[in-house]
Order: sequence, then structure tokens, then C-alpha cells
Amino acid sequence: MRNPKCKICRRTGRKLFLKGEKCNSPKCPMIKKDYAPGASGKRRNRGLSEYGKELKEKQKLRQWYNLGEKQFRNYIDDVLERMHNTSVKEENPAEVLIRILESRLDNVVFRLGFADSRSQARQLVTHGHFLLNDKPIRRPSAILKKGDKVGVSPNSQKSGYFIKLPPKMKKSQMVSWLSLDQKTIEGKIEGIPTIEEVAPPAEISSIFEFYSR
Ligand code: SF4
Repeated sequence: MRNPKCKICRRTGRKLFLKGEKCNSPKCPMIKKDYAPGASGKRRNRGLSEYGKELKEKQKLRQWYNLGEKQFRNYIDDVLERMHNTSVKEENPAEVLIRILESRLDNVVFRLGFADSRSQARQLVTHGHFLLNDKPIRRPSAILKKGDKVGVSPNSQKSGYFIKLPPKMKKSQMVSWLSLDQKTIEGKIEGIPTIEEVAPPAEISSIFEFYSR
């Protein structure tokens, strides 16, 4: 199948930035074909049932974060469980969900500009290129907290990929809750991700509706 990731964007009707540099170039298929693949794509997007709309919102967010269904469902269950906890009742479930998903190590690696996409970030993490607080880590799902530091392992710093990285990283736009030391290529969690800044591509309330059925 050609460009299966681009087909995901076309199916959901949003640019999900799954292909790195191509996503910000004129080659992005969403520029000319922002409808579902297949001859009937334009028609298929009309008149979706409530269930269909909720499913679409769920798929958008799940694929944006490059997660499997089971893994994504576990995060939803985790948030719902927290909501039942009286001490966090005031919190908005959408805010909590985004905070958790943004705090994953693979997402942080992507946000810091170490990778062009979340899938590439996950691969780099599992291949052992990073240190979390100076210790090797290969778990993309590790949840980071304020004060945590993400660095590149000494061996990986000598590899071609990481030698070429700093000039590329200068161009990437950093989110306010992360900082990057360009000299040591080490990132730090400075704050808490907010839904306003993250601007997820999906309507999160519909996702909770989908899982409440
Ligand atoms: Fe493909 Fe990226 Fe465009 Fe999505 S945003 S269609 S993944 S190039």
C-alpha cells in the first residue's frame, strides 16, 4: 500500500503529521486530496452517524499519538478512574488525557525535535539512543514529570544521525513546557502541557462519549 500513513490523514480529514518533513511540504497529499481515499471518499464523509463521528475523533487522536487501540483505551480508562478519585474531581478529563499523552517519552523526544515524527521517536527510543535523568531508557511509554531530563547516550552522540541533528533542531519550534540545551542536546521538562498549547486535532469530549457507550 502506498503512503498508508497519508491515507490515515485522508480518512480522518485532518493533517496528523505522521510523516515528518513531508507533512510541512507541498508534497503532503492533504493539500490536494483532503477527502477519504477511494472514489466515494467525498461522499463517505457526509452524513456520519453520531457513533461514526465519535469513532473518527477517537481515531484521529489515537493515530496522532501513534498508539495502538489497547494502549489508547488504557489511557482513557486511567483518566476515568482518576475522575472517580475525589481529590482530582475538579479536573477536566480532556486536559488530564492530553497531559498524560504529551508526557510520554516518545512524544517528548518528538517535541524536542530529536525526531521528525512520533513513530520515528518511538523507534529511536526503543533502539536505546536516549537517557532519562542520565540513565538508559528504551521504554517509549515512560511518563515524564517536571524536572526530568532527556539526553542522547554518549555512543549515539557519535552516530551520523545525531551529529547532523543540531542544525535541524534549531528550526523546530519548541513548546513552552520544554527546554533544550543546544550544546549538550539535552532537553528538560519545565512545566505542564496544556490543551490550549497542544491544540489536539480531535474533539476530546466525543472520545469519552465513544468509550462510554
Ligand atoms: Fe501524509 Fe503528513 Fe500530509 Fe498526513 S500530514 S497526509 S502523514 S504528509
